[in-house]
Amino acid sequence: MGGKAAHEFMLIVDTEGGEETLLFCDKCEYAANIEKATFREANPPRVDKELKPMKEVDTPGASTIEEVTAFLNVEARKLVKTLIYLADGKPVAALIRGDRELNLIKLKNHLGAVELESAPASVVMEVTDCPVGFAGPIGLKGVPMVVDPEVTRLRNFVVGANKNDKHVTNVNIDRDFTATSVADIINAPKGELCPHCDGHLLEKRGIEVGNTFMLGTKYSESMDAKFLDAEGNEKPFIMGSYGIGITRTPQAAVERYHDEKGIVWPKNIAPYLVEIIPLNYDREDHHRAAEQIYRDLVNNKIDCLLDDRSERAGVKFNDADLIGIPARIVIGDKSLKEGKIELKYRGSDKAGLVDKKNVVEAVRDLLNEVN
Ligand SMILES: [Zn+2]
Repeated sequence: MGGKAAHEFMLIVDTEGGEETLLFCDKCEYAANIEKATFREANPPRVDKELKPMKEVDTPGASTIEEVTAFLNVEARKLVKTLIYLADGKPVAALIRGDRELNLIKLKNHLGAVELESAPASVVMEVTDCPVGFAGPIGLKGVPMVVDPEVTRLRNFVVGANKNDKHVTNVNIDRDFTATSVADIINAPKGELCPHCDGHLLEKRGIEVGNTFMLGTKYSESMDAKFLDAEGNEKPFIMGSYGIGITRTPQAAVERYHDEKGIVWPKNIAPYLVEIIPLNYDREDHHRAAEQIYRDLVNNKIDCLLDDRSERAGVKFNDADLIGIPARIVIGDKSLKEGKIELKYRGSDKAGLVDKKNVVEAVRDLLNEVN
């Protein structure tokens, strides 16, 4: 959103449901979205003392990292990938180590681009003068090269030769090609060191449920929004933005509170507190009892859902488990004869019989005991 600093408030989820990838330290408080996360390498590759002479080698049919490293018998981290992208329609090359993944957001932010997309094969062939899979930085004319800092620390590495079925070994930055800019453009990998301490980075999925942005005077200056200070001087407002993800909060709650049958709503955000299930709503006595309990609860400001469908009991129970209203009241033939109903909490299997007259109190007691 602009401004200098932002915080994202994430709920960590163990399921695949999280839409963000988070890295965090197993020792200190460091945590960051993968769009921002940085790291220190735990075991950097050995740095050769001497710069060896560059050599073009045949790598027939080997165009992927796996194929090239196997063919040349080198580690993936001694090979440098040259990835061609289109930034706002213009080709740009991103150079990262063979064992790393490019982070598109970091590259996009670094370039200040609005649109960033993988270059189609036709563009790759145009700028490299060879088929896809053999792109390299040497002789890549007119294309800006963004180089990841890890590449600048490598010596005698392998790159594509911009020729079909050929790579170049013993390549060295500055001697053999020049970076247009150097920037962190890769995903921080889990297992590497924390940027702040000697802890290791863990990776989890998260849901962003809130954020804050320090906007400073970015918008107030552009919109000419000013106030007079005590001395009567005009000054721009200092602005902040504070957001709670209203729609993501229930999503996050469901990720956290559920079982194999469905949702288990925490009572504070449950859409209703009680679901009433008459086993046979078409019968006069069930119908009457259900409506009476419904009215009693609603009159006592307890939000209620009444399943008045003519479905079988099993269908109603399954649906109740699926939508996960905290308290469930079942009105059945046997108990009703004794003036009782069944009361159950969604988060457990235990159910108890309570007097129909005491439903409101019993529901209150149950809700007091649960989350
Ligand atoms: Zn740390």
